Amino acid sequence: MDAQNLSHRLKTVAKFVPQGARVADIGSDHGYLPAALALQKQIEYAVAGEVVKGPYENAVHEIQKLNLANVIQARLADGLEAIDDSDRIDTITIAGMGGALITQILEAHPEKLNGIKRLVLQPNIGEPRLRTWLMNHQFQIMAEKMVAEDGHIYEVIVAEPSIVPFRYSKYELTFGPFLLEQHSPVFIEKWQGELQRQKTVLQQMNQASKPPVAKIKQQEEYLGLIKEVLS
Ligand code: SAM
Repeated sequence: MDAQNLSHRLKTVAKFVPQGARVADIGSDHGYLPAALALQKQIEYAVAGEVVKGPYENAVHEIQKLNLANVIQARLADGLEAIDDSDRIDTITIAGMGGALITQILEAHPEKLNGIKRLVLQPNIGEPRLRTWLMNHQFQIMAEKMVAEDGHIYEVIVAEPSIVPFRYSKYELTFGPFLLEQHSPVFIEKWQGELQRQKTVLQQMNQASKPPVAKIKQQEEYLGLIKEVLS
């Protein structure tokens, strides 16, 4: 994979970046996503933020190699600290991390979210937690997409600030309001796999010398939710 040959997962993230956007890609690694967006003239400007020196240097190298320094700035920074007011960022992309880490990054600097028109997020795990954070911070989910690649199933979540308060049900938080609605073959595949994994977890809990009663109840409820959605 490189900027000219993005993975299916990052291509899906890229599709949700509006034409002419000013993007901050947080946890950019090689900077492939902003570089691809710049090469296809989809964005006006980008910041490629990275907290680790090695990947940051990779991004610097990629940007120089592709002659994109006039469009993309690589910054060594923790999360949203990569963004300055003068960047006039309107879109943030965060891909390839756990939902908990994405949530922490968004939570750490609420002031950096002022003026943001769109978040394009691709958590590897922990999607319900991220959706809960979005709901509690009035970012409404506008689109979702599931992507299967190399034996993994990823979710892409697109959210925009809402002026009206809204709530999601436990089904929408767990499965995704749009994904639930689409009920695609890849959605069924993901949740059938999760059902089998979580059944094993429940069995192990029940076989413990001191079965954790509260956790077992929680697990049974979770399994019930999955079965209901798959039925
Ligand atoms: N976004 C790319 C993608 O989806 O292919 C790279 C994903 S890579 C698995 C995650 C990257 O996020 C790593 O390069 C890591 O150093 C970076 N990262 C983790 N925590 C971060 C933080 N708080 N701020 C900026 N970058 C971070």
